[in-house]
Order: sequence, then structure tokens, then C-alpha cells
Amino acid sequence: MTLASKLPEYTLRRSARRRSIEIQVRPDSVRVLAPTRVLQSEINRLVAAKADWIIARQQALRLRRPQAPISSPLDQGSELLWLGERRLLEVEVNQPDTCVTVSPERIKLILSRRIRKAREKAISEQLLLWYREQAQHYFQTRVRFWGVHMRLTPSQVRVRSYRRKWGCCNSRGVVSFNWLLIMAPVHIIDYVIVHELSHLQHMNHSAAFWDCVAKFYPDYRGAKAWLDLQGGHLDWPPRLTSLTS
Ligand SMILES: [Zn+2]
Repeated sequence: MTLASKLPEYTLRRSARRRSIEIQVRPDSVRVLAPTRVLQSEINRLVAAKADWIIARQQALRLRRPQAPISSPLDQGSELLWLGERRLLEVEVNQPDTCVTVSPERIKLILSRRIRKAREKAISEQLLLWYREQAQHYFQTRVRFWGVHMRLTPSQVRVRSYRRKWGCCNSRGVVSFNWLLIMAPVHIIDYVIVHELSHLQHMNHSAAFWDCVAKFYPDYRGAKAWLDLQGGHLDWPPRLTSLTS
């Protein structure tokens, strides 16, 4: 796909003593070590050929990297992600009941006066709770839609917290999804659903499996590349930098 077949950015270090080209992948950078006489075009060709591997490796490294300390707590004006779009957080305290509402620009959190926790903690806990409930509801509904379309029905739909995966499917027909996906664009969520439902038929990543995915989701490579490149932004507490769809 276009995203994955692009030449990744890298820094080049040449040395007369080197005999082969080495690609060093770090979470946010790529360094290529090459012998002095190798042509630039040859290095580019090699890096381009390894693009998928480089992206996957970076994604794995980013997930493994310990969480950076939270710079500012969630509060009035914080940016949140909701189905791939940015929303501003609005907070109202000391109300009779706790509730959350979503509008095209904001997510409004109303906190009950009965919550006795520190403001920062209350906001983050209630928002997390709400996000997870929404994810649960969204996936139930959306899996039902795709299930009818694909004629594949899971025995159960679960929404979970995973560190390193977006979804999974077990041999008992249970499909599970990472709740953080509720922050991703709808078409990316659809890809993960189609992927997991396809596992109900093929419990592997064989060519037949990808044929099944492609039948219902032709641009699955684009969605995969999006998750490789942008998936790290789907995180809690939110870390917004440069999400694109
Ligand atoms: Zn899979």
C-alpha cells in the first residue's frame, strides 16, 4: 500500500571499513550503516524493500517503551480522540449525577458531587469508564453488522485492555477487541473487526485468510499500515501528537 511502500526516513553513516549494509531501527528513527562505495540508490532500494519490516519493528519497539510521564492531567480543554476525531474535554463538577455527553466538538463530563476523589483522579477514572463502556457498546453493534454481512457469527464479543494487540479470536469463537480502538477512525475499527471475524473461518494468517479479509475489506493493507504508523497514538491517558486518517 502507499503508506507502507514509501521509503522510510533514515540517517546514513558510511564507513570504509564496513562490508555490508546494516539497518538499525529505533522507536522514532532509522539509521543505516553502509560501506563507503555502495550507491545511494542501492541503499534506498534496500530500505524501501524493508519498509514493512521497519514499520512493524518500530511499532513493536514503541509498544515496549515505558510510558512517558503524563505531562498534564486530563481536565477542561484537554484534547481527546473519539472515533478518529479530536474532541475537547469539558468538565462540570458538583452536579447531582455523573454523566458524559458527546457532541461534534466536545466530550462533556459532568461529575456528581457524591464523588469525593481528587478532581484529577475523578476525571480520569470516569472518562476511562465511559470510554470502555462506549467501546463495549460500539463493538457489540458493529460486530453484529459485519457478522450478518460476512455470515460469520462469533459466540461472544469482548472488549479488553491489551498492551500489544488490537484484537484476537479464539477456537471457541470468542472475538476480543482492544478498547483503545474506540479512538481510531471507523474504517480502521471495521478492518480489525473484519480481520477477527475472518479468523472464525481461518485460524491463521494464510493466503486463504487474507482472501477472506480482502473480500469484505479490500484496502486491508491501508488499514494495517495506518495501525502500524498511527496505532501508537491510541493510548490511555491520551497522547495526541499527529494523528492522520
Ligand atoms: Zn490475525
